[in-house]
Amino acid sequence: MKVLIGGGSGFIGQSLSKLLNNRGHNVSIISQRPGKGRITWEDISKKGLPPCDAAVNLAGENVLNPLKRWTEAFKQEVISSRIETTRTLTQAISKSSNPPRSWILVTGVGYYPPSQTHQYSEESPGGNADFLSRLVRDWEQVAELPPSINKPSTQLVRVRSGVVLGRDGGALPSMLWPFRLCLGGPIGSGNQPFPWIHIEDLCRLLCQCIEQGGSSGDVLNAVSPSAVKDTNSDFTQALSMALGRPAFLPVPALAIKALLGEDRAPMLLEGQRVVPQKTLQSGFTFLYPDLKSALADLLK
Ligand code: NDP
Repeated sequence: MKVLIGGGSGFIGQSLSKLLNNRGHNVSIISQRPGKGRITWEDISKKGLPPCDAAVNLAGENVLNPLKRWTEAFKQEVISSRIETTRTLTQAISKSSNPPRSWILVTGVGYYPPSQTHQYSEESPGGNADFLSRLVRDWEQVAELPPSINKPSTQLVRVRSGVVLGRDGGALPSMLWPFRLCLGGPIGSGNQPFPWIHIEDLCRLLCQCIEQGGSSGDVLNAVSPSAVKDTNSDFTQALSMALGRPAFLPVPALAIKALLGEDRAPMLLEGQRVVPQKTLQSGFTFLYPDLKSALADLLK
């Protein structure tokens, strides 16, 4: 199959491309910069969608980049890097005479309101709790195809992902050094839910959506089955045990707020208990259903 991946040069995109290539698919990347095997966003806007069986969007400025201050300009970049790239693909698919069978958008479980008690499935309401949940709501809305072309040939799948744990990017590598120096510990109270997924499981799920032509479901939660009960303290303890290092030094909530600002701090200080209900109903099986197996693989 021919697969087009917006933001395919990033952490998730590289893993997904590798998996798809290994399974015999043909991957093209949409990027801000031209290059070998790449198409630019400008090309898509001007020339339309190249022939493909599936389109995936993974483009987005890193929200939690601690090197970027939470200025109005950066906030707009975080929003527009997701909304505008998604709009470009939605419009290109709508105008295509030969649209792909599946259109897959990876967003986040930040859609659901943070809570230590509520459990959320794909059908739970959300999208109006804070900056991130409103961003996910708008981002997913822009991906909707106009009714006239929303024929069975293009199926939109919104994949709401938890924190993606991988060796080569995302949150885990930056967390490892303090733990290795015995400076690790829970963030804030540590009681906040920690929705997570192993990168390999996320890419396998995206691959399933692509190969099944988007029939896996219109919204899928991409979190490990055990994540519904995992807290930040559970993750801290599991990481500490996997590394054989103590982790007693909590990171104060005030320090997180000072570093990241009011809009971004809740992404670390709060969380959602999320169930991958429709994901499991779609027949998907997780290779790494709990933190122990995931960390054992990622740290070996
Ligand atoms: P990365 O930051 O690794 O990669 C995203 C890609 O987006 C980059 O490689 C870049 O590609 C492109 N990009 C960056 N800034 C912009 C911009 N201003 N305008 C257009 N494109 C831009 O992200 P991940 O692979 O980790 O995540 C992919 C998506 O999944 C993101 O939207 C993220 O919010 C979402 N997600 C990620 C989670 C995680 O834990 N990693 C959890 C939940 C959701 P290029 O430079 O080639 O254009």
